[in-house]
Amino acid sequence: MLCDASDLLVYECDGYVVEKNVPDLVLLPTTRDQVVAIVKTCNEFDVPFVPRGAGTSLSGGCLPVGGGVMIALTRMKQILEVNLRDRYAVVEPGLVNVHLTQRLKGTGYHYAPDPSSQGACTIGGNVATNSGGPHTLKYGVTVNHVLGVEVVLPDGSIVEFGGPTSQAAGYDLTGLFVGSEGTFGICTRVTVRLTRNPAAYRTLLGIFETVDAATQAISAIIGAGIIPAALEMMDQGIIEAVEAAFHFGFPLDAGAVLLIEVDGLEVAVDEEAEKIVRLCEASGAREVRRATSDKERMLLWKCRKQAFGAIGRLSPSYCTQDGVVPRTRLPEILAFIIACGTRHGIRIVNVFHAGDGNIHPILLFDERDSDQVARVLAASDEILTKCIELGGSVTGEHGIGVEKISFMDKLFTPDDLAVMESVRAVFNPTGRLSPQKMLPTAGGCGTETIERSGPGRRAAL
Ligand SMILES: Cc1cc2nc3c(=O)[nH]c(=O)nc-3n(C[C@H](O)[C@H](O)[C@H](O)COP(=O)(O)OP(=O)(O)OC[C@H]3O[C@@H](n4cnc5c(N)ncnc54)[C@H](O)[C@@H]3O)c2cc1C
Repeated sequence: MLCDASDLLVYECDGYVVEKNVPDLVLLPTTRDQVVAIVKTCNEFDVPFVPRGAGTSLSGGCLPVGGGVMIALTRMKQILEVNLRDRYAVVEPGLVNVHLTQRLKGTGYHYAPDPSSQGACTIGGNVATNSGGPHTLKYGVTVNHVLGVEVVLPDGSIVEFGGPTSQAAGYDLTGLFVGSEGTFGICTRVTVRLTRNPAAYRTLLGIFETVDAATQAISAIIGAGIIPAALEMMDQGIIEAVEAAFHFGFPLDAGAVLLIEVDGLEVAVDEEAEKIVRLCEASGAREVRRATSDKERMLLWKCRKQAFGAIGRLSPSYCTQDGVVPRTRLPEILAFIIACGTRHGIRIVNVFHAGDGNIHPILLFDERDSDQVARVLAASDEILTKCIELGGSVTGEHGIGVEKISFMDKLFTPDDLAVMESVRAVFNPTGRLSPQKMLPTAGGCGTETIERSGPGRRAAL
């Protein structure tokens, strides 16, 4: 149990650093029964509570709005079972994503969802946010790899949805729970699907003069009927930070690079890689390099997955936005983002899962300067509104959290929201679990709005 002000400060925000509020108490259970006891006690004393994994959420999903108890699940991190014959594993929610694949090394299997934060984020957090990652393009998001969950409901009762047999009869409650952002219950055990490692990979780096040419190549590749395992873009700003951090040899004068991976049978991957090289060249690529060894491939992926960390070289704070547009509208949204940054005097760099049309503009600022914070929020708002206008959405994978609640009534009708609210009420009727997340009407204790209370603080707003 953590209750000293200096300990609690660590939990005042997640990866969405713009809004902060310290919890009154942080509890770190090690068993499901402890989670049950905490939840029951919170109910007894009418205190709000919020689950937390590694706190890498980029939408404020773990923000303890109104204070209350934070239940940090990072000490529940056991791998309980690995069953290769039936291709599943059972894990506790606090297990760090990459630790499962590391444990499977040498078996010929891996856990496919690979968010770029996979070295830190937990499988429970991935379940709650239905995380994607670079390999989502071919392998799908978390919901496609979760066979079942054990959940402590907000009243302290325990339920199980799904299980190792993927085709359970009745409603797909596992599917409903995945992506509920901690508002339906606290997940205490997850049964995940294991995926056979591909026989072969080819990893390419396409180098382009402009972002526009790179996005044309993306459309050309997908339009040709090729679904790479991953198709990621980094623009010039990110290339600069990543090169300074990892010295891969990225060309610093390139407008954008595409990291493209194809996988499958040895006989097929060369032909597919060749086609991609030709399509990139036809779209104006200056050069297309191939990773010549496993070491080089791993370094390329390290550069991509640790790109966010490298941004510390560019600015003291950053806000990663998450939107989606139809792939063909990528050039338009990227041009808009550049213009928006110029208009608001905010530097914006881009690294994203381009194959899915999932953009991640990263707005660089200093959170100590309230004017910069206001401009970052205004620019974010305009970018997300533009995503909606272009036929997309305000989140591809990071979720709504507290950050994007105000967009929900732009995306959905009052009737849609009322249906969502009634589904939430089935699981979480008192609203004590994760109040004021996801839905505009989701106050604590019925529909009342909880005031943010001390000992919280907000960033320099
Ligand atoms: C550098 C960086 C890169 C990222 N890249 C990606 C990416 O490629 N793809 C992607 O999808 N996301 C990405 N993210 C966002 C984030 O990592 C994911 O949303 C991740 O799933 C969050 O996991 P976590 O353990 O940190 O959860 P937290 O941030 O602790 O929590 C996230 C949400 O899940 C809830 N929650 C946590 N544990 C439980 C539980 N056991 N039961 C119920 N609810 C729970 C919390 O209440 C909160 O609403 C990135 C973040 C960073 C900082």
